[in-house]
This record gives sequence, C-alpha cells and structure tokens, in this order.
Amino acid sequence: MLSDIYIKKKLKKQIFFSATALILYLAIFFVFSRLAVMVSARISYDTALAVKKNMLRDTVDNVFLSIDFMRRDKATENPSYTEEEIKEQVYKNLYRRIHSEHYEDGAYMWVSQVLNYDGGNDYAIRLIHPNLKNTEGSLLSTNTVNEDGSLAYADELAGVKKDGYVFLQYSFKKLNSEDVSEKIAYSRLYEDYDWIISMGINKDDVKHYMLVAEENIGHYRIAIYAVAIVIWAAFIIFLMNYYKKTEIGLYKEQNRALRDKLSFDTVTGAHSRDYGERRLASDQRKFAGGDGNTFIAILDIDRFKYFNDTYGHAMGDMALKRVVDIIRECTRTSDAIIRWGGDEFVIAFSELSEKMVPTLGNKILDSIRKIDLSGDGIEESITISMGFSNFKERDKSYMDAIYRADEALYRAKEMGRDCWSV
Ligand code: GH3
Ligand code: MG
Repeated sequence: MLSDIYIKKKLKKQIFFSATALILYLAIFFVFSRLAVMVSARISYDTALAVKKNMLRDTVDNVFLSIDFMRRDKATENPSYTEEEIKEQVYKNLYRRIHSEHYEDGAYMWVSQVLNYDGGNDYAIRLIHPNLKNTEGSLLSTNTVNEDGSLAYADELAGVKKDGYVFLQYSFKKLNSEDVSEKIAYSRLYEDYDWIISMGINKDDVKHYMLVAEENIGHYRIAIYAVAIVIWAAFIIFLMNYYKKTEIGLYKEQNRALRDKLSFDTVTGAHSRDYGERRLASDQRKFAGGDGNTFIAILDIDRFKYFNDTYGHAMGDMALKRVVDIIRECTRTSDAIIRWGGDEFVIAFSELSEKMVPTLGNKILDSIRKIDLSGDGIEESITISMGFSNFKERDKSYMDAIYRADEALYRAKEMGRDCWSV
C-alpha cells in the first residue's frame, strides 16, 4: 500500500529543508539589502559632495567677478584713485561681505595674501577668516603640518601657482576641540592682489545627506522585504506542491506495479486470492446496487494429491497451469479466474445466466478431461469438480456466495467427481 508514513516523513524533511532555505534566504537578503542601502547612501553622499564642490568653486569664481567689477567701478567713480586705494576699498568690501554672508551646510570663506611665492615661514598673511577671527593678520607657514600629515598650505600654494586654483582635502582639529574634522576646500589665486581666496566645507556637515538617503530607502525597505517574503512563500508553495505531486505520483506508480504483481499467482498465471477477494467484493457491491446477476464457481482438481504423489510436484504445477489455461479458453476475458488456494479455483463470471450454467459447466469439464499430458508421460486424464452459485439479495458479503458454491462443490465431489452442481 501507499506508504503515507513514508510520504509524511519525506514531506516533513522537505518542509524542514524549505524552512532552513527560507531562513538562509532572508539572512542573505537582509545583508544584501543593508549593503544596497549603504551603497546608495554612499552614492548620495558622494553626489552631495560633488554638488558642494561645484558650489565652492562657483561661489569663489563669483567673488572674483565681483572684485573685477568693483575695481572697474571704483576707477570710473573716481579716476584719481590709485591702485592701492582701490585695493584697500575692495579689501574692506570683501571683508564685510565674507564676515556677513552665510552659506549652506556650514561652508565658509577665507582669504590670505601671498608674501613669498617660494613658500617657507611667513610666506603669507591671513587677511580674512570669519571662523578664526583672532588669526586674522597672523603669518602663515608652508611648513604647517595638518592632523592627517598633509601640508595644506604648501599644497595650496603649489596648486595655485601651477593652475591658478586647487581643490584640497585635509584633516584639521576643530576649534576648541580634540575632534578631527575632514575638510574639502577650493582655493583660487587672485594674481593682481596676491590673494588666495578659499572656500571650504566640513565633510561631516555633508554627512546628513547620507542619513537622509538611508532614511528614504528605509521607507522602501519594508516594501522590498514584504515582496521578497511573498515571492519566497509562493516559491515554497509551488515547490511543496511539486514535491507532493512527484512523490505521490511515484508511490502510486510503484503501488500499481506492486499491486499488479500481487494480483497474479506466479505458478498458474491465474489471479491471486488477494485480487480475487477485491474483485468478488466489488462484484457483490455492484450486484447489491442492482447491477448484474454475477455467478461464481468454485472448482477443485479431483484427487490431485494422488497426482502429485504419483508424478511429482513439478508435474502438479504444470497440470495446475494447464487447467487454468483451459478455463481461460472456456470463459470470457471479463471473467476472472482466481487461485483460491491449493488446487482450488474460483471463477467470477461477469455475466452468466442460470440457464447457461449447464452448458458452460459441461464445456469446462469436457475441456479439462481432454487435457493431453501424454507428451509428459502421463496417460491419466485430469478431471475437476465444480460448484456454482450466484449472489443473492440477502447476502451480507461475497463469502455467502462462496459458501454456497463450496457446498455445491462438496455435492459434486459426493456425486463421484468430474461433475458440476449448483
Ligand atoms: P479431492 O478430489 O477430494 O479434491 O482430492 P485431492 O487429492 O485433490 O484433495 P485436496 O484437494 O484436499 O488436495 C489438494 C492437493 O493439492 C494437496 C497438494 O498436494 C496439492 N497442491 C496444493 N497446492 C499445490 C501446488 O501449488 N502445486 C502442486 N503441485 N500441488 C499442490
Ligand atoms: Mg482436490
């Protein structure tokens, strides 16, 4: 029979496997989605930083334009102004402007004047620095080393000398704090005045773009997880169904093969008792349901013990097979020949009317009698006795009909064998 326990065990295993796979999948999924969030937040940060760098450059470039404009303005306003006087006025104007203006994300501007383009101590003087107002007027050195070991002033001087402008990144200690801050700055040289005008921003002040990006993606993350779980659940349901179908299909097929094997008697090729009982039970049910008037017959080989003892068991087996073959010839394919036990057979007729019983009974007896075993050195003929009966409405099971057929068989044996009775 189909082993339900085995299938359940198998299914249990598969459920366990699927659950483990789900946990693994989720773990991997969480890690990857976390990575995805981090990467996209990083991209947002880098983008924000690039935007900020542009802003630094544009703002400083604008200052340059306004200085040029102011110089022209002053010169036309009063042609008697000397260059030094104009520079002084531009400086004052710029000082006011830088000290009063506020930029996004804590960006700020500062100005220093180069005294010695070769660098060294006192190479420049700080003119404007709103963040470190007390350092305004102090001298600077290209030998100043930053927190990260870089020489920002030296790099700046080298950069502006080479290209006129430079982008720099360096670390420095925050004012009145041990915290080291990373700064990104744009510096450009205003050659006429030897001014280096710089604008910088703390990278930390741009970090919030990363957090915002993470938060934004975070909103979607729940949806992404939900979709992932739904996809996985659907996949698992599909897999379980597939497992079930293939497993059960396989077992059904095996069972069919096994049942087929169990349905036949290996010695005679007749149906087995196991099959016969199922067939009779089904025929009886059909009869009880008003379908058919199924006859049955029990037949038993006469003095078969003697036959066996005289010619041997192997000859006995052969004789049994010949009997079955002959009965098969005398009956319809829809009739079932069942080996009931030993030399006893049951025939379940599919359709047989009572008036046909004598004809059929005689035909079978006659055909058996004619079995020729002389080729095997056996001159004696085989005979059988038969008992017929049919299902009756009062019957509780097919066994009632079997008992009646058995009684009829007994009578046939009593009557001297090689005959039938109903
Ligand atoms: P009866 O006419 O009263 O039926 O006499 P009998 O000798 O046939 O008596 P019974 O039916 O009781 O004997 C059955 C014998 O069938 C006993 C056993 O030797 C033989 N037999 C049963 N199964 C097999 C089998 O598979 N192969 C062979 N060769 N002989 C079998
Ligand atoms: Mg017998």
